[in-house]
Amino acid sequence: MKSTAFRFLSAAIFGVAALTASPTQTAKIRVVTTLTDLADFSRELGGEHVEVFSLATGVEDTHGVPMKPSFVPVMNRADLMVSVGFGCEHAFLPALLEASKNPRIQPGKPGYVDCSPGIAPLAVPTSTDHSEGDVHPYGNPHYMLDPVLAKKAIQHIYEALVLFAPQYRADFTRNRDAYLARLDAKMVQWQVEAKGLKGVKFISYHEEWEYFAERFGMKVFNTIELKPGIDPTPRHIEQLITGMKAEHVPIVIREPQFPEKVPALIAQQTGATLLKLPIMPGGVPHTDTYIDMMDYIVHTLVAAEAKRG
Ligand SMILES: [Zn+2]
Repeated sequence: MKSTAFRFLSAAIFGVAALTASPTQTAKIRVVTTLTDLADFSRELGGEHVEVFSLATGVEDTHGVPMKPSFVPVMNRADLMVSVGFGCEHAFLPALLEASKNPRIQPGKPGYVDCSPGIAPLAVPTSTDHSEGDVHPYGNPHYMLDPVLAKKAIQHIYEALVLFAPQYRADFTRNRDAYLARLDAKMVQWQVEAKGLKGVKFISYHEEWEYFAERFGMKVFNTIELKPGIDPTPRHIEQLITGMKAEHVPIVIREPQFPEKVPALIAQQTGATLLKLPIMPGGVPHTDTYIDMMDYIVHTLVAAEAKRG
């Protein structure tokens, strides 16, 4: 239903553009991103020169965005393909890239934008034994939840845009500088607001919050998953509950892609507060942009902590 709606919408938009385009109008740079945070940054930087499409809508697992046939023609026409890197998207991106038959956005080509270079990954596996789970093959890829590290991704997108369309360099530079100024101002605000979160322990479903916790001084107690991508066992859940009670862990974070049942049970058994928090823009209502999402995350955690007193 959704893909049919999308196809219809695309056809409708194309039809309108074809009717109104003048011969002198230059085509927009077609940017496809795996996730919604990268789409938000691409729109901010590219402004009027880009047309951005995100494969994810915001509620998906970053490691398993469902592949839709409608993605293929969009990727076939893409000028830039922007990804998180560290193997985050390895369950869906390589197959889609192959299906796209677009030589310009293949790994190694200027149109393939990996946002991870320059970031030191946390939790790099010491063994390649896949029984440990294989969704974090090169370490934890969820650096985007640290706004300081997100700036590195922004810089990669900026460089790719300048390389593709050097004639718009001045616009991209102005847009980037304006956005970074907004983000920096927000970061100061978030750090002030989050002062009370220092040392506060929490569990989450997936190993998603390590970079966030490091930036804001929170402590990851454990995860509901046994390992990234490996479902919890009853024994693990039991041990988690015992450990949380002993250590007075006050917060259980549930990411939108996971069902509520187990996190709710753990929260109920331990007296912890259950919070559903987005991992990318659009994961919950009112988080359509990266800044809105970070606002939501910080406000929700601070409110939960304040309530606890
Ligand atoms: Zn992960």
